[in-house]
Amino acid sequence: LMQLYQPLNMLGFVYREIKQGLTDMEQMFRLMSVHQEVADKPGAPPLAVPHGEVAFEEVQFAYNANRQILKGVSFRVPAGRSLAIVGPTGAGKSTISRLLFRFYDATGGRVLIDGQDIRDVTQDSLRAAIGVVPQDTVLFNDTIRYNIAYGRPGASQEEIEQAARLAQVHDFVARLPEGYDTRVGERGLKLSGGEKQRVAIARTILKNPRILILDEATSALDTRTEQEIQSALRAVARNRTTLTIAHRLSTVVDADEIIVLDHGVVVERGTHTDLLAAGGIYARMWAMQAEQQDQPEAAAA
Ligand code: ATP
Repeated sequence: LMQLYQPLNMLGFVYREIKQGLTDMEQMFRLMSVHQEVADKPGAPPLAVPHGEVAFEEVQFAYNANRQILKGVSFRVPAGRSLAIVGPTGAGKSTISRLLFRFYDATGGRVLIDGQDIRDVTQDSLRAAIGVVPQDTVLFNDTIRYNIAYGRPGASQEEIEQAARLAQVHDFVARLPEGYDTRVGERGLKLSGGEKQRVAIARTILKNPRILILDEATSALDTRTEQEIQSALRAVARNRTTLTIAHRLSTVVDADEIIVLDHGVVVERGTHTDLLAAGGIYARMWAMQAEQQDQPEAAAA
């Protein structure tokens, strides 16, 4: 029986390794299939990011020729400042972040970083300059250490721990029996949405990008998790040019500028105070959210 057990055990091991490989590969392919939409120009230089200013100039975009999604969107985020993009579902908020990361090319207008059209530089250098904290992070089937260090391969344990502390996930990891060696993902420990997001924040802190895209989670988190995430996000956003795709207005109050997007057009812009005083769409959205927070039962009904 032992003789049989060994090869079977081996087979199980090989199967698991292949399956793990497939999961990671699927993620790669998903990314690569998007990459095919754009290509580097021959001899394109790397992006130079001395400051980190981001500008959209009359940007137009359509996923399909018959339906315009962005209809001439312009904004400028000075280096180190923050822009929040709010607006109804389907307005085109996430599309803006996809264009900045150059998953797609604008069909009209220009996207500039420190004055360089992002179509003229290499995609690798562009993506190295931008950190993304997505709504739902997909973790690799590997250890927590690997998942954080992915932001900067070769990072030391101290650097990893420092990033994890800033992202408010270190204490959680330290309490696990295997600590940073705990395996996560499909084959390992299942992390909650909030924990996964904090791992993603730690990864981004380690990557240390000049420009940051925060795609806020739509799903409601409990108040404590929400506060921890907000404080982790503030840590990662400090001194970086930050674009936040906001779903809850409570998180945009401190943004240097807020743009309200509706059907691919910027309909209002200004600070929170400006926009409340203007008494337009933003002010109405704000009043509506405040009402829902006061009466959660009524909002859920
Ligand atoms: P939400 O708040 O719901 O996340 P959003 O403002 O971020 O919405 P986008 O994700 O930018 O909206 O989408 C804008 C429009 O583009 C939507 O009508 C959506 O259906 C469409 N769209 C998004 N991705 C694609 C795609 N890959 N192919 C075709 N249409 C798409």
